[in-house]
Amino acid sequence: MMKKETKNIALKRLSEHLSEKKLRATSQREIILGTFIDLGRHTTAEELYEALKKFDSSIGHATVYRALRLFVDAGIARELNFNDGSVRYESVIGKEPHDHIICKKCGAMVEFLDEKIREAQDEIAKKYGYSIKNRSHILFGICPKCRR
Ligand SMILES: [Zn+2]
Ligand SMILES: [Zn+2]
Repeated sequence: MMKKETKNIALKRLSEHLSEKKLRATSQREIILGTFIDLGRHTTAEELYEALKKFDSSIGHATVYRALRLFVDAGIARELNFNDGSVRYESVIGKEPHDHIICKKCGAMVEFLDEKIREAQDEIAKKYGYSIKNRSHILFGICPKCRR
């Protein structure tokens, strides 16, 4: 999916979420969302803040942090904890669903998708009567390089 298309879908989802929650739309939030999509990786609030400074130096840390929380609530982003000391955010729009396996030594990461795991998660949620809003399935290990 093209970045522009991804951005449009994300913006639409954000505005729907805001009107649902009776919150006001701000142009700052739209800039934050656009930059977040542009970065297109597992981004920390700090990395996003640094990238935003180039466009708008008036955007503070707290604003970036709150915007990311809002994107999670709106189903645009998900929160990931790779146990490296900072929470990361990843856009769920324009990306295939996937899980992560991370090397505890060098931080090397693989994104993988296993239908059986997806189905098992769906079954578990169903069994307990939950509707899934976010998935975070992360495996930690030692990568082939570090095992040598
Ligand atoms: Zn490694
Ligand atoms: Zn990922």
